[in-house]
Amino acid sequence: MTASLYLHIPFCASLCDYCDFYSVEVPKTDVQFYLEMLCTDIEQQIQQYNINEIPSLYIGGGTPSVLGARRIEWLFKRIHGIFPGYIPEITVEANPESVNEDFLDACLSGGATRLSIGIQTFYEKSRQALNRAGDPHAIMEKLELITRFFPESFSVDLMTGLPFQTEAQLREDINRVCSCSPGHISLYSLTVEPSVPFFHLLPLPDQADALYCFGRDLLEQYSYMQYEVSNFARPGKRCQHNIRYWRMQSWLGAGAAASGTIIDEKKGTGTRRTYNPDIENYFRHDAVEESLDQLTLVQEMLLMGFRYIEGPDEGLFKNRFGINLESYIPETLDSWKHKGMIQPGKNALTPEGLLFLNRFLIQTFEEIENRS
Ligand code: SF4
Repeated sequence: MTASLYLHIPFCASLCDYCDFYSVEVPKTDVQFYLEMLCTDIEQQIQQYNINEIPSLYIGGGTPSVLGARRIEWLFKRIHGIFPGYIPEITVEANPESVNEDFLDACLSGGATRLSIGIQTFYEKSRQALNRAGDPHAIMEKLELITRFFPESFSVDLMTGLPFQTEAQLREDINRVCSCSPGHISLYSLTVEPSVPFFHLLPLPDQADALYCFGRDLLEQYSYMQYEVSNFARPGKRCQHNIRYWRMQSWLGAGAAASGTIIDEKKGTGTRRTYNPDIENYFRHDAVEESLDQLTLVQEMLLMGFRYIEGPDEGLFKNRFGINLESYIPETLDSWKHKGMIQPGKNALTPEGLLFLNRFLIQTFEEIENRS
């Protein structure tokens, strides 16, 4: 059986107000114990689901770079010991503050093929509002360092809709990042709850949308083509791991708050295994397992698939559910074709259509519900 592997490293140097990912401030002890429990978990899941092929591994968080060189080296050794087969794509997430030469060297020696670095913005006023550490000059130096170790094989996270952000600031962020030629850039629109302290400083929704479109168009001028709602890549640099999520292909998730889904291709159903966002709980490997019936899997496949610029995998859809996509949601596809928001020759939204993804999905689910 083939499945990708996601590992969650729930440690950060400090916690950001707006973040939804499960993480704790890096503790003085227990990090090594956590990694050992993580590896036991990986080993058990690989055996339980009979995994003999891992097309991609993603070490995310949290901030995996707070592990430092020695621990990431240890982790890679253990992973390759548990699964000696070739893993074509291995991504490690990092933050500029904790990444250094030794860490990058250890990632390369461990087989990492991509590095994903969270910058969000260089603009100090916005960074302060978000409570993000790091000064722009030091961040730029780290970016140049990463360029030496992973030339064109790294991804940078940027954000739009930030407090105090203007088009000029966003242009400056994109220009700086593009001067290092990453292969991949993620551009996220910030969304936070009203309870977040800087909520009143955010641009109005229309201004935030305009900023996002400005950033998207500028990235395309630099030849980063949008291939998902928030992701842009140069040719051959799309993230294969994330594509497997958007296509709903099996993956294992290990670590506190991690979740994995194994699909039974013949039955068109799945099993989801989720860990609580709680390290102590994870030490007991207490996971919740749920079954995904056909309808749930169909809905998830559409929900995820239409985020991707190629749309849901139509061959997989037909094999799993015995019906073509056009026959499953004909009315929605037709009406969006008339609006010019479906790409010619495939069942996928245009970049303009992606801006209205939620509306498209609501209509899709209404069509499914009205039929059943
Ligand atoms: S460093 Fe990243 S993962 Fe950690 S709290 Fe901040 S945004 Fe979240």
